[in-house]
Amino acid sequence: MKESRNIVIVTGIPGVGKTTVINTAVDIVKQKHGEDVLVLNFGTEMFEVASKAGQVKDRDEMRKMPTAQQRENQRLAGQSIAKKARKARVIVDTHTLIQTNNGYLIGLPEWVVREIQPKTVVLVEADSEKIASRRNNDPSRARDAQAVSDIQIHQEMCRAAAVSVGTLTGATVRRIINHEGKVEEAAVELAQTIME
Ligand code: ATP
Ligand code: AMP
Ligand code: MG
Repeated sequence: MKESRNIVIVTGIPGVGKTTVINTAVDIVKQKHGEDVLVLNFGTEMFEVASKAGQVKDRDEMRKMPTAQQRENQRLAGQSIAKKARKARVIVDTHTLIQTNNGYLIGLPEWVVREIQPKTVVLVEADSEKIASRRNNDPSRARDAQAVSDIQIHQEMCRAAAVSVGTLTGATVRRIINHEGKVEEAAVELAQTIME
């Protein structure tokens, strides 16, 4: 029997525009196909766990916590997401690499993706200088300052991490470029992946 996978995981470095592109793609799917997409934000699930336990007051504080604690919260968030994702069309908004005080934490280790079984891992990318300016111009978040050369390296490592998720799960890996001022174009590509 043909397998049926319904989950698209959307990744990319902080400030690249994941959440913005996802919101536009959900609108496109609704308008063009009359279908609803459930969006699950991994960071929101983790923040629920961490704030209930009194560990943090802000979602941007979580990546500064001891990594063992982040891993435990990640495990709980992954289970909660896998349970909620038993719906027709689902997007998980998350990261493949989280920059902690002790190196990169793998956002989608085997024991998280085994439960989620995505059909596609989307990697949203953009020009590194534009990402730096998007971060600087977004007062709603406390994103880390990062040199443009480090943003470049972070994006390259995210490619490797996205391919690893494909290797572990059989998911396809799709790069979507979020060009400056062209959210709609990126969202059309994401909408195609959701509807495939
Ligand atoms: P995080 O991982 O930290 O949640 P994100 O990848 O979800 O970040 P967004 O919050 O969607 O990023 O976007 C960051 C900022 O960049 C926002 O101010 C958003 O309006 C802006 N932005 C997103 N896409 C574009 C684009 N194509 N052109 C210009 N600005 C953009
Ligand atoms: P976001 O709003 O997508 O930036 O997510 C907020 C925060 O949640 C991130 O800065 C990380 O600390 C955490 N987070 C999101 N996804 C993951 C994940 N897959 N694994 C571990 N931490 C995550
Ligand atoms: Mg976001």
